[in-house]
Amino acid sequence: MYSDIQEVLFSEEQIQEKIKELGEKLSNDFEGKNPLVICVLKGAFIFMADLVKQIRVPLELDFMAVSSYGQSTKSSGVVKIIKDLDVPVEGRHILIVEDIIDSGLTLSYLIDVLERRNAKTISVVALFNKPARRTVELEPDYAGYVLPDEFIVGYGLDYAEKYRNLPFVGILKPEIYTT
Ligand code: 5GP
Ligand code: MG
Ligand code: MG
Repeated sequence: MYSDIQEVLFSEEQIQEKIKELGEKLSNDFEGKNPLVICVLKGAFIFMADLVKQIRVPLELDFMAVSSYGQSTKSSGVVKIIKDLDVPVEGRHILIVEDIIDSGLTLSYLIDVLERRNAKTISVVALFNKPARRTVELEPDYAGYVLPDEFIVGYGLDYAEKYRNLPFVGILKPEIYTT
């Protein structure tokens, strides 16, 4: 598995350092708000787990799964809810936790859904951001690392459902995509 990686972009330590920074900001901003923290499955599951440990205010959490890429490395533009939230969002302060924002399509769809359900406020935290690839106007309120136009795997992020369990983030050797 590790031999499929061409280059490590962010080590475990670098990722944890960034999450601590994000956690500090979020702890300040969500003080007294009892936010509902929503993990966008599956990619954000590790980020979510590490992030909430660094948010030092009372909060609740829930999970949502949406389809985006299937087995490809590009967005189909079609977003579908595979698993919905267990709790209502009406009147709640929402924090959406995303692994990465690429085209922005998934997130703009999610924000739309939560707005229609009358969330009080909606904020977004994304560990990775690829602003160059945006097709809709959308910026996360809290962002970790900015990435060039490259497809990354690891730390929850997959290629064809593999590599999610890598503790770091890297790019795959090109031959992995072509075989
Ligand atoms: P978007 O809708 O913004 O184009 O992409 C949303 C989802 O596509 C992300 O939450 C993530 O699951 C997946 N995605 C986008 N870029 C990458 C990438 O570089 N690597 C991986 N593994 N998934 C990505
Ligand atoms: Mg995602
Ligand atoms: Mg994926």
